[in-house]
Amino acid sequence: MGETYSIAVVGGGPAGLTAALAAAATGAEITLFGPQNTSVVGSDNRTAALFAGSIEMLRNLGVWEALEPLSAPIAAIRIIDDTGGLLRAPEVTFTAAEVDRETFGWNVPNAGLVECLTARLAGRVRLQETRGIAGVAVSDARVRLTSAEGGTFDASLVIGADGRKSICRAAAGIDTKTWPYAQAAVTTTFSHARAHRNVSTEFHRPAGPLTVVPMPGSASSLVWVETPAEAQRLAALDEAGFRAELERRLQGLLGTIGDIRPRAVFPLSGLEASSFGRNRIALIGEAAHVIPPIGAQGLNLGLRDSAVLADCVADAMHAGRDPGLAPTLDAYTALRRPDVASRVTAIDVLNKSLISDLVPVHLARGLGLVALKTVGPLRRRAIREGLAPSPEIATLLGPGGLARLVARAAPGPLDSAA
Ligand SMILES: Cc1cc2nc3c(=O)[nH]c(=O)nc-3n(C[C@H](O)[C@H](O)[C@H](O)COP(=O)(O)OP(=O)(O)OC[C@H]3O[C@@H](n4cnc5c(N)ncnc54)[C@H](O)[C@@H]3O)c2cc1C
Repeated sequence: MGETYSIAVVGGGPAGLTAALAAAATGAEITLFGPQNTSVVGSDNRTAALFAGSIEMLRNLGVWEALEPLSAPIAAIRIIDDTGGLLRAPEVTFTAAEVDRETFGWNVPNAGLVECLTARLAGRVRLQETRGIAGVAVSDARVRLTSAEGGTFDASLVIGADGRKSICRAAAGIDTKTWPYAQAAVTTTFSHARAHRNVSTEFHRPAGPLTVVPMPGSASSLVWVETPAEAQRLAALDEAGFRAELERRLQGLLGTIGDIRPRAVFPLSGLEASSFGRNRIALIGEAAHVIPPIGAQGLNLGLRDSAVLADCVADAMHAGRDPGLAPTLDAYTALRRPDVASRVTAIDVLNKSLISDLVPVHLARGLGLVALKTVGPLRRRAIREGLAPSPEIATLLGPGGLARLVARAAPGPLDSAA
C-alpha cells in the first residue's frame, strides 16, 4: 500500500467542487472547505455556456444526468454588430453543424450546477462547512488551514478555489496582474414569445456585449454589459421599464418579453496569476484567472484547470510521490499557462475593440468579422479554437475519462501511465 495523501480544497464554487470530485478519483483523501452552499444557490442567477469538453467532464463526474434537464443546448452562435460605427460589420452565425457537431455546448444554470455537484460529494469527498478559511500557513511538509471557527487541518496539497480574492494565492506568495474594466454586467433570465431555436446571440455594442443564451423552453439568460452607472440604472428599473429597454435592445429578436427573474449586477475586472502552483498550493478557477464574460470562456477555463490538476495529482499518486511537491505544481502551471494566457489576451483585445473610440480599431474588428463570415477554413478554425481541443488537454475532458483517470493514478512505474 502506498501512502495516503490528504488534499484540501478551499472554496465550494463550481471550480472547487469539480476539482474535489476529480481529485477524489485519484485515491487521495479530499476535504472541501466552504461556506454553506445554500447562499450561493439562492444568490447566483447567472448561467454558464459550457462547451463540449466541460460537459464531458460533468458527465464523467456523474452530475450531467441531473443537470441536463435544467440546461439548454446551444446549436449556433450569432454575432450582431450594434456598435453604430462607421463600418457596420456583417452579422456572423457559426453553427455547430459546420464542425460536424450537434451542439457547441449547453447553457447551464450556476445554482443548479453547484447544487448537483454538492449532492455528488457524498461518499467521495468530506465536506467541511465553515464560515470560511481564515488562515493558510505554508511549511515544507504541509499546509495548515485554520477555519473561522478556530479548527485546524493539515494537508499535503491545498487546491485554492477561493475566487478572485483568494487567500490561498496570497499564502502561496503568488502575485497577480490585475486590471479594471469600466464595465459591469446585468444578469437575469426571462421568458419570450419567439423561439430562440437554440441560437445564442451576442450584440456587440459600444459599452460591451449584450448576450442572450438559450434556456429550456421559451426562455433565455441575459448578460448585458454596460458602464457601471448604466448597469445600476438598468438593474434598478421596475420590471416594465426594464422590459421596454431590453425589447428595444433586442430589436425584436425574441419577440415580446414575458416574466423577468430578479436581476443582479457584476462589476467586470481582469486578473491573471503569475503561477498556478507554488508552496503546496495549486490555484484553480477565478483564484487563478478572471476575464470578462465575452465568448463564454471563464468557467470553461476553470473546469479545464480542475481536469488538468486531477491528471497531475494522478501522476504523483501513480509514482507514489507527495502531490504537494514542486514536480506536480510545476507540471500543472506549465500545462495551464498557454490555454489561460491565450484566452485572457484574446478576450481582453475583443472587449477593448468594442469600447474603443478609434475608427481603425473598429475597422480591424469589422474586417475580422468579414473574414470570419466569408473564409471557410478560418471560420472552422475560429470555431474549433473557441471550443478548445478538450480531450487532448486532460483525461476527464474526454469520453470514459473517469475510468482512465483511476487507471492513471494506480500505483506502478510512471512510464506506463495513461
Ligand atoms: C456575468 C457573467 C457571466 C458569465 N458567463 C459565463 C459563461 O457563459 N461561461 C463560462 O464559462 N463562464 C462564465 N462566467 C464566468 C464564471 O461565472 C466564473 O468563471 C465562475 O463562476 C467562477 O467559479 P469559481 O468556482 O472559480 O469561483 P466562485 O464562484 O467565486 O467560487 C469561489 C468560492 O470560494 C468561496 N470562498 C472564498 N473565500 C473563501 C475562504 N476564505 N474560505 C472558504 N471558502 C471561500 C466562496 O464563498 C465561493 O463559494 C461568467 C461570469 C460573469 C460575471
